[in-house]
Amino acid sequence: MPDSFISKGVLDCSIVVPVYNEEESLRELFGEILKIMTPLKKDYEVIFVDDCSSDASEVMINDFCREFPEVAKKLTLSERSGQTQALRRGLDSAIGKIVISLDADLQNDPGDILRLLDKMEEGYDCVCGWRKARQDTILKAAMSKFGNVMQRLFTGMKIHDVSCTLRAYKKECVGKIALNWEGQHRFIPLSLSLQGYRVGEIVSNHRKRKYGYSKYNHRRVFRVVVDFFRVLSVRGTK
Ligand code: UDP
Ligand code: MG
Repeated sequence: MPDSFISKGVLDCSIVVPVYNEEESLRELFGEILKIMTPLKKDYEVIFVDDCSSDASEVMINDFCREFPEVAKKLTLSERSGQTQALRRGLDSAIGKIVISLDADLQNDPGDILRLLDKMEEGYDCVCGWRKARQDTILKAAMSKFGNVMQRLFTGMKIHDVSCTLRAYKKECVGKIALNWEGQHRFIPLSLSLQGYRVGEIVSNHRKRKYGYSKYNHRRVFRVVVDFFRVLSVRGTK
């Protein structure tokens, strides 16, 4: 099945979900999103960006597109490209006035979408989740804390969890988000804030990974430190 047709026009909300081998989580995730979004009576789309999964993720997404053609959309990357490029592709295709990003593995709680939307009403350009009670390994949580402290120290940013991928963005600033190299998605709040956009946060519910496995390991920490200074040096624009 080819990419589902993305119509031109405007919706209230787009939800972008990068997917790499998340077959066990997808049905549950989509169910949770529908449960949250349906009562809101908003026009919205859920864009699943398949990063060339080798499991049944694509089959599941095709099923959603058949069952809920008004809501579910599928994009497939031509080759395995990583989370940053999957997100880029989804953000570029989104036609919602507010665009929300969310992981596919159920670690982010779609229930938090309501609070993201409420917070956006206060006039923010981007609102990020803060995984205050983080449900990852101690090492991963500690490394993330270190990264957050560094960013606050060096940049004056106020938010606590710069790399949480549960976020909402105003459509106007989506095009300003630099996502050119793998890993850059971790610096979106910094990039936007360096460009003068207003970035806020909500405390979000973080859950243990229930199915599948994390696509990253702790070795990336050294790379993230280098990447951080790269983002600072170009003021978040490249
Ligand atoms: N992901 C992706 N391509 C990749 C790695 C990850 O699309 O090369 C997706 C993955 O399916 C998930 C999200 O990005 O929806 C975050 O990945 P993961 O949960 O492995 O990261 P972690 O939460 O461990 O940092
Ligand atoms: Mg995860």
